[in-house]
Parts: sequence; structure tokens; C-alpha cells
Amino acid sequence: MHFVTEPIDNDSPDGQLIRFVRAYAGKIENERKKERTMRTMRERARRGRPIPGCRVPYGYLPGPERDAHTGRLTKEKLLPNPQTAPVVVRTFREAAAGVPISTIADGLTDDGIPSPTGRLRWAGNTVRYLLNDARYWEQGETLRTKVVPVEKHLRAHYATKTRTVLRPADECYALPTSSVPPLVEPSVAAAAQAHLQHNRDHATRNNRYPERALLRGGIARCGYCGDGLYANNRHSTFGGAEIVRTTYRCASRHEAAPDCRAHGMEAHLLDPAVWAKFSELLRTPGLIEQELDRMRASEAPGTDVLASIDKLVRDLDAQIARKRRLFELTDDERTQNELAAEINQLAALRRKHEAERANAELHYADWQQQQDGLQGTLDLCERVGAQLDDMNYDEKRQALFAFKAVVRLWRADHLPHRAELQVSLPLSGTLRLELSTLAYCNEEMTWSCHHKRAALRSQTGPPGDHAAGCS
Ligand SMILES: [Zn+2]
Repeated sequence: MHFVTEPIDNDSPDGQLIRFVRAYAGKIENERKKERTMRTMRERARRGRPIPGCRVPYGYLPGPERDAHTGRLTKEKLLPNPQTAPVVVRTFREAAAGVPISTIADGLTDDGIPSPTGRLRWAGNTVRYLLNDARYWEQGETLRTKVVPVEKHLRAHYATKTRTVLRPADECYALPTSSVPPLVEPSVAAAAQAHLQHNRDHATRNNRYPERALLRGGIARCGYCGDGLYANNRHSTFGGAEIVRTTYRCASRHEAAPDCRAHGMEAHLLDPAVWAKFSELLRTPGLIEQELDRMRASEAPGTDVLASIDKLVRDLDAQIARKRRLFELTDDERTQNELAAEINQLAALRRKHEAERANAELHYADWQQQQDGLQGTLDLCERVGAQLDDMNYDEKRQALFAFKAVVRLWRADHLPHRAELQVSLPLSGTLRLELSTLAYCNEEMTWSCHHKRAALRSQTGPPGDHAAGCS
């Protein structure tokens, strides 16, 4: 709509109507523009070409191909960047060797390597982002994110009115390795991922006394809601000396589990009880050896499953490639639409199989990890002999992790027992052990500042020999 001759009179009803109509037309055009852009992007992604963002991913260069009309780089293919690709490889190698993320970042900063955004300092999160990007070691994905408006009640937390979120897996498009070549060996990437997971499990976060709580970081769990208990350290002075008391506590008050309140138990009561029960298990002659022998004898699961999934994916790839070739050959719009629908269906099927493969792979990795963990525990037991209590903090935790130990803790009035140790072995299955030694400990207290002060006031002896120190 053009109004060349007629100036708009804002005050008159006619002018207001015309303004409304023009705004409406603008809005519709905006929607159409959005739709056109997305259609182009989806089509490009479907053909297996990366979507050029404002920046080429770190470690890559756009290929030299240029558009015939505009002369601009088409960015349909990425090539390893001789300057930055070695930095990506170095990051993965260091992470695979168990170097913490912040140390990797500091090392890169110290060596004067500019960060992906050209800054002097590398942030730990930048390194983490690189380590979690699948295109560096296998088939990556494009159209991974989308921009959504921020809900009105959350606006105060954001600097802008929109935010970027990950798309659901079925809206992403796989990128063939011919358009984005991987930079890192899959085995190195897998080792790096395993270390990241291990660090997440064992991180002390801002706990100043991690060694006061053996069961921290997910071993001790709430019996009602299942959340991990956190180790709470509190200071007080006793006879002029400062003492620290550590308590496991459930931080969440779940609506789904009304009995879950801020219940907990002191670490100096729960830890020895759990360790006593657990060492009984470790002393059971031949338990670990038997399990290991059985694990070695049974074939590693997943190998035949993985092979059959691989074959399915290869077949689907061939079918998709064939349909794509037909698509390029034909000019008929209807045929093209039909082919596009078929390709989408096949691609969805392939994504499903790929997800299955990832699951099977995880299962296999877990099997290997458990076998290694049990072997480690066996070696440890042989080394310390009968002196299981002489194990240090890390060794004890390693053994608990190898048995996938979980301690569930309920409130003092819970029947038949207050705490339970659960261990799982891959073949023998799950074993639940009652921690009955804690039965005497029947004082329950809801945690609050008032109670905290009261508890510290009423404390008459050092926490170690205070029988009713269970809160
Ligand atoms: Zn809870």
C-alpha cells in the first residue's frame, strides 16, 4: 500500500484506520519474511550444509567456494584452520589426560593463544563448550538452536527480550563429515567426556572440608525425594577451640514427597556405619573376583547390537543420498515436494537409529568402566589386606563408586530403619543392606536458625562422642 499524495492525519478516525492497516500489513510481511528465511535455512540444512552464523566455528575456515553472482564465500563447507585446529586438538588431548578445565584455559592464556572471540584470556566455559561440541569428533548437527522470546515475568533476569535455546533433537539436521570434517579422534573425545563426568561427580565445589563427608556428591540420598544430600559444615567454638560439625541434609522440600523436610544426619554417625557395613561386603571372600570372572566370561554387550544399527544407518544413508540426487535432477515442484517428504521421513528414522546407537554405546562404555572400577577395588583390597579402615578418603570413595553405592536416609521416625545402603554389581544385581546400628539415634530436629543456635548452646561435649548428636 502506498500513500504518495495523501499525508496521514493522525487525529482523524480515517487517519487512525490507515495507520492500523499499514501496521498490520507490515506485521504480515514480517511474518512472511521470517517464514521465507527459515525455509531457506531448513533447505540448506537438509542438503547437509552448515548454516553460516556470524562466526565460523572455532578450529575451522570456510571453504574457498564462492557464489557465482555475488562473489561472496558460500560457506557450504568448512575446512580445518591450520592455526586454530591444533588448539582444539590440544584442548581435547589435555582433557583426555585428566587436566581440569580451568587449568587447560589458563595454559592457553599463558601461551598467548587468543580466545575464539579474540580475547587475551580463555574462560573455563569456553573450553567446556568446545569439549561438548560433537562436530569436533563425529557427525555434527546444524540448526541446533533457536531464538525465543523471554516470558514477561522473567524479563528482569535477561538483558534482551529474546534468548537462545536448544532445538529438540528432531528439528536438528545432521551434517555429513564431508562438509564439516572432524578434528579429533573419537577415542580421545570419549576419554575427555569420561573425565568431565568424573570431575562433575567428584567436584568439591565450595566445600572447604570435603574430606569430612565420605558420602557427599550423590552417594547419600534422601529416602523421600531421592535428591542427593549436601554436606553442611557449621562452625562453633568449644573450650576455646574451633570445631566443625558436618551434617548431611536434604536441600529440597518436594511437594511430591511431603515427608521430605530438611532432615539429615551428622556425618560422624552416618559415615562409620556405612563404611562398617560396606567393608563387611568387601571382606566377603571371592565376591569381587567372582563378579569380575563372570563379567569377563560374558561377551561385552552391545557389540552385535551396534553392528546391526550401523548397517541400518548405512542403508538409510544410501537411500537418502539416492533421493537427494533425484531431487537435484528434477524440476517438477510436485515431485520435489514428494521427494522432500520421503527424505525427511528417512532422516527421522536415521536419527532414531542414531539415538539407539548412542544409548547402546553408553551402556557398553559403562560396562567397561564398571569392570575397571571393580578391578581397581580388588587391587586396593589386596594392597590394604584386612586393614580396610586404613584406606584413605579417595580410596574409600573409589570403592563406593565401583559398587555404585547409594545410601538412603529417612527421618528418625521412619520404620523399619532409618538408613539403608544399596550396592549394585553388573551381574549379581542390587543388594540392599539395612543400617540398623543407627536405631539408637532417634532425635529429630527441623533445621532452622533458631534450632541451630539451640543445638550449639546445648552441646556439652565434643561432637565425636555426643551420642544424641543426630539432628
Ligand atoms: Zn528430600
